[in-house]
Amino acid sequence: MAVQKMDKPLTLGVDLGGTKVNVGLLDAAGRLLSAHKSMIHASKEPERVIADILTGVDECLSKTGLEAEALGIGVAAQVDLKGVVHGSPNLGWRNFPLKKKLEKQLGLPVAVTNDVSAATWGEWRYGSGRGVDDLAVLFVGTGVGGGIITGGNLLSGCTNSGGELGHITIVYDGRKCRCPNRGCLEAYAGGWAIAERAQEAVRTAPKEGQRLVSLAGSVEEITAATVSRAYHEGDLLARRLVEETGRYLAAGVVSIVNAFNPCVLVLGGGVIEGIPELIQMVKEFTRSRALEAAVEGLEIVKAALGGDAGVIGAAALAQDLVDKAP
Ligand SMILES: [Zn+2]
Repeated sequence: MAVQKMDKPLTLGVDLGGTKVNVGLLDAAGRLLSAHKSMIHASKEPERVIADILTGVDECLSKTGLEAEALGIGVAAQVDLKGVVHGSPNLGWRNFPLKKKLEKQLGLPVAVTNDVSAATWGEWRYGSGRGVDDLAVLFVGTGVGGGIITGGNLLSGCTNSGGELGHITIVYDGRKCRCPNRGCLEAYAGGWAIAERAQEAVRTAPKEGQRLVSLAGSVEEITAATVSRAYHEGDLLARRLVEETGRYLAAGVVSIVNAFNPCVLVLGGGVIEGIPELIQMVKEFTRSRALEAAVEGLEIVKAALGGDAGVIGAAALAQDLVDKAP
């Protein structure tokens, strides 16, 4: 009987962003057997993008000669529980029934979710949060997102938009965010915000900012990656910016940890990959600032799946779909 439990189906995972689509075929142990990455059609029209997805699926299956039993897809969009994409600033879609359309064209069961939820699912099932029932995952990339697993369930909320960890307020009336709020975690620690803060710092102190400008080419071209590079060269202004980022991130983590009391908090995303030193800064600050009971059993660890988390998570979601099927 134990063998039967292990015998999960092969499934496809899709990570659909605003410009590209990654497709992968996942085996029963969570390994990616094949993957296909491509740009999506420039028009971003849903039907064209579906054709791009189907091309990726065909590539993955024909390379391996294998069949899949279901497909999961994470989309950079707000998605409801019926698999309808309600709004996506990145794709320009509104109320598009993605699950229905894909199921019809593929002839397979399809699970649709938000891209960050899919990546959270990936880290939970096959990454750094494997086997943990109370987990928080925070991805710090250009934007900041994540998810909460509580009591073995992914928190979805009333309208499936729960776990928007990047938009918790860390400074009342602080920096303008890309959402309607001010002072969000993302408005300080997201890649776009690090770039903004660095550019402002260089304009205020041009002499201190010389290295950042020479690495980027101009003040306007300074990005979070420029800050990371200068930081690793020992530049003092970059160090100040990174240490501030560490404190902002930690302020967000303290709120997350106090609110949800996870056993493990996973930190991932491009900013963390570029400046892994942030993890230690967050650890120290969180220990000293969070409620004692909230950090007692807490581990803060780096994400394990990198850029594949979305594809792996989406495919893992599809595995669950097949497992639950009658
Ligand atoms: Zn916000």
